Amino acid sequence: MPGLFQQIQAGKLWDFHGGIHPPGRKEQTNQKPIAVLPIPDRLYLPLRQHIGVAGQLLVRVGERVLKGQQLTSAENSMAVPVHAPTSGTVLSITPHTSPHPSALPELTLVLEPDGLDEWRQREPLNFLTCDNMTLLSRIQDSGIAGMGGAGFPTHIKAGLTQPVDYLIINAVECEPYISADDLLMQEAATTIVKGIDILCRLLNPKAVLIGIEDDKPIAAAAMMAACSQREHYYVRIVPTKYPSGGEKQLIQLLTNKEVPNGRRPADIGIVMQNVGTAFAIAQAVLDDHPLLSRIVTVAGDTLNQPQNVLALLGTPVSALLDACGFQSQPQQRVIMGGPMMGFTLPDLSVPVVKTTNCILAPTAQELPAASTEMDCIRCSACADACPASLLPQQLLWYSKAKDSDKLQEYNLADCIECGACAYVCPSEIPLVQYYRVAKADIREQQREALKAEQAKARFEARNARLEQEKQERLQRNQQLAAARQQQQLASGANTAVADALARIKAKQALAAPAEERSKEQILAERELKKQQAREHQQQKAQQQKAEQQATEQHNEPAEQTPAVTENTNSKAAAVAAAIARAQAKKAAQAAEQHATEQQVTPAPNTEKSHQAEVSAEADPRKAAIAAAIARAKAKQQAQTEHETNAAPATASTANKPAAGSDIVAATEDPRKAAVAAALARAKAKKQASAEATEQTAASTTGAPEPDVAVTEDPRKAAIAAAIARAKARKQADSENS
Ligand code: SF4
Ligand code: SF4
Repeated sequence: MPGLFQQIQAGKLWDFHGGIHPPGRKEQTNQKPIAVLPIPDRLYLPLRQHIGVAGQLLVRVGERVLKGQQLTSAENSMAVPVHAPTSGTVLSITPHTSPHPSALPELTLVLEPDGLDEWRQREPLNFLTCDNMTLLSRIQDSGIAGMGGAGFPTHIKAGLTQPVDYLIINAVECEPYISADDLLMQEAATTIVKGIDILCRLLNPKAVLIGIEDDKPIAAAAMMAACSQREHYYVRIVPTKYPSGGEKQLIQLLTNKEVPNGRRPADIGIVMQNVGTAFAIAQAVLDDHPLLSRIVTVAGDTLNQPQNVLALLGTPVSALLDACGFQSQPQQRVIMGGPMMGFTLPDLSVPVVKTTNCILAPTAQELPAASTEMDCIRCSACADACPASLLPQQLLWYSKAKDSDKLQEYNLADCIECGACAYVCPSEIPLVQYYRVAKADIREQQREALKAEQAKARFEARNARLEQEKQERLQRNQQLAAARQQQQLASGANTAVADALARIKAKQALAAPAEERSKEQILAERELKKQQAREHQQQKAQQQKAEQQATEQHNEPAEQTPAVTENTNSKAAAVAAAIARAQAKKAAQAAEQHATEQQVTPAPNTEKSHQAEVSAEADPRKAAIAAAIARAKAKQQAQTEHETNAAPATASTANKPAAGSDIVAATEDPRKAAVAAALARAKAKKQASAEATEQTAASTTGAPEPDVAVTEDPRKAAIAAAIARAKARKQADSENS
């Protein structure tokens, strides 16, 4: 029995499960040549038109770009750039309705063509001489992604390093109405084969299998003619059956191989590329013509001229319909894609992108809208039609129940959303819509689970880091404590050095982050602050004391200043000042005592003497002056009395010291004043005693001796003298009688 490769070489074909045979309706467009559309007024270029990520913008608003110029860069392997389809000016870069079933807005560059269609510089490559990396870079930089509908970056599939047995070129185009690949093969078979040559150079397959449905005889003939010179290129005509163009289905048709669940064709040595992709590769490598346009089938009974058009990427759907004589009807539906796998557009400003192969504008009779959904009758027609050998009714049940586990168990991921099940369902259940929603929910759950897993990993990493930092901090603190103890033991005598080191460590601890400071370090900081506060208070007290001493020195009499200034010790100065104050107080007391004595003697200026006494209490110097003045007055009065009453008093008065000099001295020195006052009091007392003795002797002879108290108090002496005179008079009277 021949092997698989021999069977393939012999032209054997196989079949896949299920499939349907809807009316093709390709005759509307597959008999007409490709029309080239005029450049529209605006081109809307989504920055992401493929599976993967968008490239980085290379242009700014207002910038003029040339035809073929790269608008985004491909820095990521899953990114392919977009190019300016013609020369013009970048009008804006803003979100615009996307050509996607969700119709979510995507970042879109709006280009205003200038009509010149001016090319950038082009650099064709000779694929026979350049290396694979250069070819792959050219394919990626030309923005080529799968043009059969998936939009997978071509350079990734073309750059596989694992062995490839079969390179399959998908030219089946099984969905009704669509004939873009058919026309491309009819008009550009030679270029397509050159593209296949480039792919073979990169992948080096054992054989190339080109699958074409039997409803495209002209295209098949053209391809056979183009491949006639290639020994291992095989054009295979497959029966018309939907969905023969599915990747897994076509592989099974041509090789009888099944791609396992969750695996890729490359895992079984097979790579599949669309015929339009092969054409784009040839243009990119051989002409340095990036992917700027594509053939789009514009079909439907609402069009006067349904046809295939070569449209620049970014051309609004409305421009395509207008070019084909679109006659809109009430509740008109416009579908992007075929009637089986396409989706209804939200508005006609949606642009043509790299994966757009058909725009369908049917009448209501031609393609009726979905009718009312009914309950499943479990007829199993859907299971019979499913090309992926799934159980669509079970998937429907679990989709409604949102049972993700069961959906995955029933291999929802293998559903290619071909719509064959819905096409045959007698209950008009939109099965594919249910599956799309369920797939979106599962994707969201998987995204959330991934996020939760990443968050958990971050949380655990953070905990590990904190624990490590804690251990390091503990170890550091222990080392610091040990070093501190050693220092204290080693330098117990030199506490100043130890204190300084402690302060330095405390400063270092202050400079460290708060979370890294230990309890001991915080206590050391507090102790340092307390010590600094105590030192500050001591300095402040010393300063206040010095200021007080300076103030006292400033208030001292002029005579004492030299003595104080000679004494450098502030304590001695304070003692001297206290002595001076005591002396002044003593002088004031002496002056007060003298003033009291003067009050006993009748004097005309008693009130003034009282004032002097009061003032003397306030100021020792004033008291000394008042005492001196009082003494002078008493002396003056005594002199007057002596001059008037007795001559012997003159001699005694003449012996008195100069009172004026005493007063001056008293005003100059409280001590001297006190001495002078004492002398004055002694003299006054002596004088008063003498006067009393003289008066007593003059008034009466043989009178009794004066009382001792008289010598001490002039007033008492006067009273005693009066009593004595009265007694003497009484005695004289009694003698006379
Ligand atoms: S074809 Fe429709 S009605 Fe029949 S089993 Fe499937 S889902 Fe149910
Ligand atoms: S849409 Fe999915 S479940 Fe329905 S027939 Fe196609 S592959 Fe099967």
